[in-house]
Amino acid sequence: MDAQAHCLCGELQWTAHFSKGKMPGQVLCHCMPCKMFGGGEYTVNMMVPKSDVKMTKGTPKVYTYTGESGNPVDCFYCPNCTTHAYHHEKVLGDRYTMHSLLFEDDTLKHRPIEMELFGKHRMPYQPEIAKTYEVTDNS
Ligand SMILES: [Zn+2]
Ligand SMILES: [Zn+2]
Repeated sequence: MDAQAHCLCGELQWTAHFSKGKMPGQVLCHCMPCKMFGGGEYTVNMMVPKSDVKMTKGTPKVYTYTGESGNPVDCFYCPNCTTHAYHHEKVLGDRYTMHSLLFEDDTLKHRPIEMELFGKHRMPYQPEIAKTYEVTDNS
């Protein structure tokens, strides 16, 4: 299936291809940049091979910051409404970290949480949901 997603204003639209029966689980990220971009306690993500992701409308801007691992993280976002479509972390190689709650299909948003990253930045009021990594090589 090709999962559709779009930013808040609609200027950007993108798709991610998933093979039948090969839906990835979701990953919560508690890192500080995720909190600062979104204003929430964590982001909900899916790791998708770059070759399976297509921007179908608009051109994202790219903002690059240095993650805790010391590696660059490229953030692809809408230049109009600032929604972050996906990130590319150099340490993750050929995959995008996609914000899975932006998919239109609820079955993707409802996929199980399989992992949590940056547990050391988890807010004290937030329970552990899945196996948590304190610090990762990923950032
Ligand atoms: Zn937008
Ligand atoms: Zn994060």
